[in-house]
Amino acid sequence: MKCDVLTLFPDILTAYLKESILKRAQEKGLLDVKLYNIRDFSSGPHRTVDDAPYGGGAGMVLKPEPIYRAMDFLRKDNENRKVILLSPQGKPFRQSTAETYSKEERRFVFICGRYEGVDERVRDLADEEVSIGDFVLTGGELAALVIIDAVTRLVPGALGDEKSKEDESFSWGLLDYPHYTRPREFRGMKVPDVLVSGDHKEIWLWRRREALKKTLRMRPDLMEKVELTELDKKILSDIKEE
Ligand code: SAM
Repeated sequence: MKCDVLTLFPDILTAYLKESILKRAQEKGLLDVKLYNIRDFSSGPHRTVDDAPYGGGAGMVLKPEPIYRAMDFLRKDNENRKVILLSPQGKPFRQSTAETYSKEERRFVFICGRYEGVDERVRDLADEEVSIGDFVLTGGELAALVIIDAVTRLVPGALGDEKSKEDESFSWGLLDYPHYTRPREFRGMKVPDVLVSGDHKEIWLWRRREALKKTLRMRPDLMEKVELTELDKKILSDIKEE
């Protein structure tokens, strides 16, 4: 994944990008993130980036000029880019979006809003407007990080164990099954016997059953979309009878 992030607060991203999987992905050349401070593209002695809204009302709005200038600067290298405006009003970001983005050849640009958001004319720069959920954040930086993180995990070679993403929540359309590690008994809570049985078929069945149970309990909305096998249907009818 290659991306440019336009933000007023690059340090928010720097801290996260220099740890763990994202750090290693950059070292391996699988992730390339360049941070640009929108203020560097402002003009005037005060380097103003925001202004009061026309029509009155609370808060400040990010001015269009610095963001357009930043985009003009990025476009000088003629690299093909997909521009994402982060916004609570955008299309919901899902695991399926992360999968699509992980196959994207173009370089991403993430525009992070602040305050009351960006001047409406900034929307013209964007190929897509994306929301990470139905809540309002203070700025787009966390949203950009969420997307970069979720997409990077899907880039081949980014995770230590490639198999770990195959079973994760949403990859089957279901939530993930429960995980346990040592000790086998902790404060009276025991690891289910099947997981130490060595019987891989039984373990697979138990995990599938637990994933179905958990999804049914926590996210019944997902059950409407998932493609159930005949075995899943049988497991579900057993669960419902319990
Ligand atoms: N006034 C805007 C509204 O009600 O739609 C909210 C502005 S919000 C306080 C400031 C910035 O945070 C937005 O411009 C956007 O970049 C970012 N942001 C907030 N919530 C977000 C979300 N759920 N997904 C993506 N970005 C978000």
